Amino acid sequence: MVNPAQLIVVLGDQLSLDSPALAAGDPARDRVLMAEVLGEATYVPHHPKKIALIFAAMRKFADQLREAGWQVDYTCLDDPDNAGSLAGEILRHSVADTPVQVIEPSEWRVRADLRALPRDVVFHTDTRFISNVAEFAAWAEGRKALRMEYFYRLMRRKTGLLMDGDAPVGGAWNFDAENRKSLPKGIKFPALPEFPPDAVTADVLYLVEARFGQNFGDLRPFNLATTRDQALQLLDHFIRFNLPVFGDYQDAMTGRELYLAHSLLSYAINLGLLSPIEVCQRAEAAFHAGKAPLNAAEGFIRQIIGWREYIRGIYFSQGPDYVAQNQLGHTRALPPLYWGAGTDMACVGHAVAQTRRTGYAHHIQRLMLTGNFALLVGIDPRAVHEWYLSVYIDAFEWVELPNTLGMSQWADGGVVASKPYVSSGAYINRMSDYCKGCAYDVKTRDGAGACPFNSLYWHFLDRHQDRFGQNPRMGPIYRQWQKMDPDRRAAILRSAEGILAKLDAGERV
Ligand SMILES: Cc1cc2nc3c(=O)[nH]c(=O)nc-3n(C[C@H](O)[C@H](O)[C@H](O)COP(=O)(O)OP(=O)(O)OC[C@H]3O[C@@H](n4cnc5c(N)ncnc54)[C@H](O)[C@@H]3O)c2cc1C
Ligand code: SF4
Repeated sequence: MVNPAQLIVVLGDQLSLDSPALAAGDPARDRVLMAEVLGEATYVPHHPKKIALIFAAMRKFADQLREAGWQVDYTCLDDPDNAGSLAGEILRHSVADTPVQVIEPSEWRVRADLRALPRDVVFHTDTRFISNVAEFAAWAEGRKALRMEYFYRLMRRKTGLLMDGDAPVGGAWNFDAENRKSLPKGIKFPALPEFPPDAVTADVLYLVEARFGQNFGDLRPFNLATTRDQALQLLDHFIRFNLPVFGDYQDAMTGRELYLAHSLLSYAINLGLLSPIEVCQRAEAAFHAGKAPLNAAEGFIRQIIGWREYIRGIYFSQGPDYVAQNQLGHTRALPPLYWGAGTDMACVGHAVAQTRRTGYAHHIQRLMLTGNFALLVGIDPRAVHEWYLSVYIDAFEWVELPNTLGMSQWADGGVVASKPYVSSGAYINRMSDYCKGCAYDVKTRDGAGACPFNSLYWHFLDRHQDRFGQNPRMGPIYRQWQKMDPDRRAAILRSAEGILAKLDAGERV
């Protein structure tokens, strides 16, 4: 019997030729469907660069599929018959008895839509990840706390990366203690490769400008990698120039540089242009060739097979209601400064301006500037989540949500983070050069001109003392607060209340 023609659906973050859905098809018989749809482009107000990146990468991947012999039905956003949603497009391109092959979508929302389709849909496991939902669930079973470090060790053993038999190379699993250096004066990092728009990207830029030009974020200049070849150039650059110092300056921040030694690979990996394992194997090979120290190679590999895989495990293990968690009961609205309305805080102002310009900020900027400030002032975690999901070029819910809601906002009550990531201005001053050019004084805790992070930090600890006072990792800091002179404490709290009142009144801080 001749098998019926199938529809193979390739979603915008599944741009890998090495795909189990494609492997289940036959180019001589089956069609591939790829669709730019309004529903996906508007469920949050995405940064224009992010929309352009995804559409341009999709169009070029469709060309690659055609070159490989596939017939591709490609729906452009402006096609008059565009159904506007992924489900609608699948229905439009299939009939009731067409089997549909697709890699399991990486978001609960899209999964639910595709599961509800009146079609025979075969969902394939996403083999681009090192782990999978069942393995994470088995690891999590019966554990009191789901700490990344232990999951990471499982992934090291599974992949064999930086392993010497059953032991970690170098005798330790983690060299993070060596990875907290601030930047030496005058250090410069070589410029990243840039990929100016070709004709395909140029068309997409016109489309995005016309349809989403009002969204927060600069569309141009657009120099992102939109093909696997370009992503490989980014990877080569990182391994050669930045990996050797990646560990050292991983946590450092500066107003002088955009990317420091960071790889800028997250968007390429998340889209499927690069596989996480190949990226890690390149870092491991650089270490074995004597071109990168162990603290750098291990630190980088841990981000990917540790943090990235763990975060995905958290997303799927916590279920679709995770997004509604708000364990600290925070309800404040997201201040307009997050959308570029301006702030006198040099650190947050820089992170937001950089985000608007590039759609990128590195991990510590996301966690300890914009995230830290949102947590200290008590912003509704869902609003914080929607902001991060909108503004970063690498933001897909499976990876953004646990990072924002769990790691950054402690809204899941400690599933991801054993204690909240909060700091006063002292940490920001130690790890960056922002404070030197700031209107506020990082050394002052209260009164006009005092760094807002200082009073807000104590205000956060004071108002959440019932929750965190008994946390063993926070004991010393609470003892410091208790020992402080009561008048001093009152002045600090008053200062913080003043900042919160200004935020609530929509005033600039
Ligand atoms: C509040 C918040 C929101 C975040 N949102 C996203 C997001 O939407 N998408 C996203 O990919 N990452 C997100 N992250 C994680 C991390 O900040 C980015 O992966 C990283 O900044 C990307 O830049 P890079 O490629 O230069 O990373 P590098 O510093 O070069 O790190 C190497 C790689 O490790 C991986 N990685 C590192 N940390 C994490 C992490 N915590 N979770 C998952 N992968 C990690 C990424 O693939 C990254 O490319 C978020 C972090 C925070 C604190
Ligand atoms: S003084 Fe405070 S607000 Fe200003 S840059 Fe430093 S930490 Fe940020």
